[in-house]
Amino acid sequence: MESVYFDICASIILAALMFSAVSRKMTNGMVNQIFMFIIAINFITSSVDVWAVAMDRSPDPCVYSMASRYISHSLYLFLHNFTSVVYFAYIICITDTWHRFKRKRLLTGIVAGAYGLLIVLLAVNPFTRIMFYFDENGIYTRGVMFPLFYLYAFFFMLSGVIWLIKFKRLFNAERFYALLMMFLLAAVTVIIQWFNPDLLLEMLGAAISLLYITVMVQRPEDRVDSVTGLLKYEAYAADMKKNFANDKHVTSIITNISNFNALNSMLNYDGINSLLKTIADIITAINRDLKAHAELYYLDRGRFRVVLNTDQAELIYLISEKINFVLRKGISFNGMELNLIAYVCITRCPEDVPDFKTLMLFGNDIHNRTPYTGQVLRASEIAQKSPFGLGNELDEIIDRAITDRSFMVYYQPIYSTAEKRFVSAEALLRLKDEKYGFIPPDLFIVAAERSGAIHKIGDFVMEEVCRFIAGEEFKKLGLEYIEVNLSVAQCMSPDLADKILGIMEKYGVSPDKINLEITETAADYAQNIMTENIDRLYSEGFSFSLDDYGTGYSNINRVASLPLKIVKLDKSFVASEDNQRMWIVLRNTVKMLKAMDMHIVVEGVETKQLVEKFADMECDYIQGYYFSRPIPEEDFVKFVANSLS
Ligand code: C2E
Ligand code: CA
Ligand code: CA
Repeated sequence: MESVYFDICASIILAALMFSAVSRKMTNGMVNQIFMFIIAINFITSSVDVWAVAMDRSPDPCVYSMASRYISHSLYLFLHNFTSVVYFAYIICITDTWHRFKRKRLLTGIVAGAYGLLIVLLAVNPFTRIMFYFDENGIYTRGVMFPLFYLYAFFFMLSGVIWLIKFKRLFNAERFYALLMMFLLAAVTVIIQWFNPDLLLEMLGAAISLLYITVMVQRPEDRVDSVTGLLKYEAYAADMKKNFANDKHVTSIITNISNFNALNSMLNYDGINSLLKTIADIITAINRDLKAHAELYYLDRGRFRVVLNTDQAELIYLISEKINFVLRKGISFNGMELNLIAYVCITRCPEDVPDFKTLMLFGNDIHNRTPYTGQVLRASEIAQKSPFGLGNELDEIIDRAITDRSFMVYYQPIYSTAEKRFVSAEALLRLKDEKYGFIPPDLFIVAAERSGAIHKIGDFVMEEVCRFIAGEEFKKLGLEYIEVNLSVAQCMSPDLADKILGIMEKYGVSPDKINLEITETAADYAQNIMTENIDRLYSEGFSFSLDDYGTGYSNINRVASLPLKIVKLDKSFVASEDNQRMWIVLRNTVKMLKAMDMHIVVEGVETKQLVEKFADMECDYIQGYYFSRPIPEEDFVKFVANSLS
């Protein structure tokens, strides 16, 4: 049997793998590049082998010049042997553990020395004939030093296997075994070929194991984003988690297009994709021009990441400045000049953010933490200004407050202009942390919504309010109801209505004693669950207020479609009391809402003058510091009782 066909087969498979790697865009990043290199080197090796063997096996090998026969065999032996080091390098790269080697120079020295020696030995081999030679009949024969090739291969292959097993925890089972297979198959075919030098199985074995790795490990769909060609979120998550686990110090240059949503609604599907591709190409070009060799990622929704080793400070600075500069200029796109509001922030891991979760949290809302300045930001500077760290410390504070029961419900009285007395109050949550003191609800409510803690907190508020309403003291105050805030996340929870009704029943409180405040943003979601919750609670007898009216883009249609009893004018209206036009808007808003049969609460009223002005405008209720700040239950009871006497 002509076993050279095995080599031809191997060459074809390897050529196909190379083609597929390129067409599947598996060319970015160190791991991909080394893998490409492995395929390429194997392709060349098997092709050279075909050449060498074809000459050996021709009916009359002596027609070929000795030089070309020596060169082809030497080249084959050298390249084939060299792949074992490249396999080892691939394992180092895929485990991302190069920084683990204390003696990088020594290791590089060993490899260079070993292969330097091999080159010399092969170069002088035509004269020494110790590696291989051609006998008097022109037959290829192994020389005395031939086992040196096997020694080399064995050494580096074994190192690769040991390293792979050492970092087994970084892979799932299928990937781990696929990689192990690569070494096993190589070992098996080498042994077979050692005993049957004519059976050229080694290259076919290598090609098959690389095919297996391509299918099981080097999966572009796992790592590469098809729109931008950059690595995608899953790759970022895997790589960064690996970095944190290996204590590898890297810097992620967070690049968020914060007006992505606006751009997305302006451009169509193809448009936004080609804009993202344009931005990805810009970042890729900067990376290439600066020879930074950074890993480039596109997560989603306009969020790019550029990752370098932290010790490349100069490069990190340069590349961030360049990205920032180019994106700040804006992009000409389809005949439009698009403005990008890009936040570029240098974030060192683990110096600035201790773990992956914090890195993601921070990366997601840089734009909420700091105003856009057009300058490159540094996470360390943002951290200094932010009282609760960059990540989930606020989550910990909230968890602590839930277990320690250190949440409190305060009440702020609401005054009726017609009855000239306090008829209700708004329940407002307070959180006092032992380390940070009072934390503003605007801050912790957002964090609690994100972490899901809001549901527990919401239950707590409802319990507290019901307990208060059910008590003896409440009855003496003559209050009609208490207003309770519901956040968007609560409204989206399918069991909201059941939970609220359960608590009411427990305390024997009737629904007309509670008014639920929702915001326009909540109304904005118009989700089924939200509508169901609102309809159900409404039919049980709850009334609803629309909170913060005038802050969002008021959609009158939607406001009209909700079962609202009360609209609360936001305090920003009141804050612009010097603006005459605002009063025109206000007067007409009040008129319109009254015509829709809504009651009106004005929030944030701090002066007597304003109380009178709003009373004249026939606003029904007034709430604000003029009457009282939100105060603890006990103080609130005293306050209202005093106002009655
Ligand atoms: P909000 O619902 O708009 O609450 C009114 C806010 O205005 C309160 O801020 C209140 O203290 C403040 N305020 C009242 N009168 C005046 C005034 O005369 N001048 C000024 N400048 N401010 C006034 P607070 O207590 O800091 O609450 C902030 C936000 O946190 C609330 O805004 C609400 O959205 C949220 N929140 C508070 N408690 C809860 C709760 O139990 N559940 C939910 N889901 N959200 C809550
Ligand atoms: Ca409110
Ligand atoms: Ca409000």
